[in-house]
Amino acid sequence: MRYHKIPDETIRRLPIYLRGLLFSAEQGQESISSRNLADFLGINSWQIRKDFSYFGDFGTPGVGYDIKKLIKQINKILKLRVVRRAALVGVGNLGLAILAYPGFRIYGFDIAAAFDINPKKIGRKIENITIEDVSNLRTLKKRQINLAIITVPQDAAQQTADALVKAGVKGILNFSPHHITVPGKVKVITIDIAMDLARLPYYMPAG
Ligand code: NAD
Repeated sequence: MRYHKIPDETIRRLPIYLRGLLFSAEQGQESISSRNLADFLGINSWQIRKDFSYFGDFGTPGVGYDIKKLIKQINKILKLRVVRRAALVGVGNLGLAILAYPGFRIYGFDIAAAFDINPKKIGRKIENITIEDVSNLRTLKKRQINLAIITVPQDAAQQTADALVKAGVKGILNFSPHHITVPGKVKVITIDIAMDLARLPYYMPAG
């Protein structure tokens, strides 16, 4: 079954719900009310009820939502039930931090390869991953890696994306500020902390 009708905004919140639900399950909870989940995640409870209503009814009045069922359903919708092997390109300041971050694993992501263009970095081992020359990107398909993280400088981002697409990558998380163009069958999500930072002062009280 495909869930075409789920809006992008809801899809954006599903990983947040998943994190809260996994935490509650770890604490031994079997069910949770939308109010408690809302308090824990800092999201309105009506928003949670509306989002969950897109993919079925897992709530029992007075008891709350069945945590196990919800986790299963969200994993299914986000297609997180299989371990996803990812490649990281550009092992600089940001790339190193991402490689060292363990938080992707709860969503089933495994950074399985890292690439750089700098000969001084190639061959070095970081977090059990040996940095490879970018020319090895062409081996990604054979290694069943179809997801990639771009942490190269802005001027190298498009050529990196082109090489990744050529290597069969279907999803790219782009940390460079460059607007990457890819064929329609490839999904790019760009993350830019500077953009979020730039709109923060607008919401802050003067003085
Ligand atoms: P950095 O210079 O420390 O690292 C870049 C790495 O990419 C280097 O190791 C370099 O050798 C490598 N590289 C350069 N060209 C390459 C190529 N063609 N193929 C493979 N590797 C190549 O830079 P950084 O501070 O880690 O930043 C990396 C990128 O992330 C930049 O585009 C920067 O603007 C961006 N950035 C984004 C955010 C964010 O919020 N999204 C935050 C910080 C940095």
